Parts: sequence; structure tokens; C-alpha cells
Amino acid sequence: MPRVRVPSLTLNDEAPVCEIRPGLRRVRRGAVPGRAPLRRRYDRPVIRAVAFDVGETLTRDDRYWAAWADWLDVPRHTVSALVGAVVAQGRDNAEALRLVRPGLDLVAERAAMEAAGRGERLDEDDLHPDVRRALGKLRSAGFRVVVAGNQTARAGELLRALRLPADVVAMSAEWGVAKPDPLFFAQVVGAAGCPAGEVLYVGDHPHHDLFPAKAAGLQAAHLRRGPWGHLWADDPDVVLTADLRVDTLLDLAEHLIAGR
Ligand SMILES: [Mg+2]
Repeated sequence: MPRVRVPSLTLNDEAPVCEIRPGLRRVRRGAVPGRAPLRRRYDRPVIRAVAFDVGETLTRDDRYWAAWADWLDVPRHTVSALVGAVVAQGRDNAEALRLVRPGLDLVAERAAMEAAGRGERLDEDDLHPDVRRALGKLRSAGFRVVVAGNQTARAGELLRALRLPADVVAMSAEWGVAKPDPLFFAQVVGAAGCPAGEVLYVGDHPHHDLFPAKAAGLQAAHLRRGPWGHLWADDPDVVLTADLRVDTLLDLAEHLIAGR
């Protein structure tokens, strides 16, 4: 991809050159001598808080789906491919497990896995390698950092045990509401402690992260990683809707910090 000059979030024309692709364009100011400066097409409020999805934004899903495949006694690639297929069809990823075992009761099966000592696990190896550094940079630069994804309460406990550089770590199961419900994003805004328009929600899944975050009044960044991040990275609706599109969280952090 060519290197492009992009606007910073403070609308500074001397924005750094980087490979972050802006989702929206703005009109350049004062381009024609003797004429009034062009009006900006939009004025984004300053970003004070950055909130992160969990699955494939902060953590790799490899272990999670491998555990299900092993539990259901099918090859890991079978489960991974089925998860990809059902999500691409717009269905819940749990449907992949029901293709393997029709009628599967997800909650009961999860409890059986826990009872057998094969329950949910998350450790440092499950984090994408840029997570700790990117969140730390943002927090040191004065952004409030929130981690909030569609996860179990157990995942919340495991993530908090990792002591990420975050101000709040809270999961959908703990709030009793999951994405894409607008109430989930209201909880994110509450955790961020600032107006919705000053919160940037970062995620890989357009229909769980990007679109509902924007609909709830937050700013939103799309992350190209993990299956959904790659699948929909160049989707026209993603390109049109995202305030930022990035390939790594370090790109995101550096861009936001440069725009302060
Ligand atoms: Mg995700």
C-alpha cells in the first residue's frame, strides 16, 4: 500500500506521514488565494478515551477455538474453517459448534469443560504482541484506556489478572449486555468517563464493533487483523464508516499521540 499523508485527529495539516488509512476525508483549508478558506467537512471532537474490543483486537482466538475442537473431538482446522464460514454468512460463531454437534447447549458444554479442567484460559501468550506496548503508550500519553468486549465473566477475570495498562477492564457478561446492543456502548461510554463523541472504539468486526459504535455516537477504528479484520478491511461500508483504519495497535497509538 502506498504511503499517504493523512489528517491527524487535531486537524493539523502537518500531520505525520504514515500508513494509517483515514475512513473520512476533509477539505483542505485555504487552498485558493483570495477566496475564503474552505469549510471543513467535519470537526471531530478530541479523543480522550480509547476503548478496545477483546477477541482478535487484543487476544488471539487460537487457543479458544482449539479448545473447542479438542473437546468436540474434531480437527482444529475443521472448527476454525466453520467459524469463518458462519461469521462470513452473518451468523453467530457458536453456530459453527452446532454444525459439529447439532443441538449443542453452549452454556452447559462450557460448564462441563470447566468441570473437566479444560475451561477458559488466557495468558500473556494469547495477547497480540503489540497490545501491552500500545495500551501503555496511550495511557502514558493521557488517554483513558478501556477494555470491553463480548466475553464471559471468566475472561474478564483472566484479563484483569494480566494487569494490562488499562483503566477499566469489563466484559459483556459482567454488564449483562453484549454488542451490538447500543446499551453495551453506553456502558463503554460510562467506563470512559467522557462524552460518547470523545471515545474511540477499536475493533476488528464491523458488525459488532465499527457500525454499532458509530451508531451509538462514538468514533470508531477498524483493525485489520484476525479473520474478520482481514475479511472486511476493504469493504466499502467499512471504508466509508471508519474514522481510522489501522493494521496494528502501535500504528493507532502513535497516530493518536501525534494528533494530540
Ligand atoms: Mg473482535
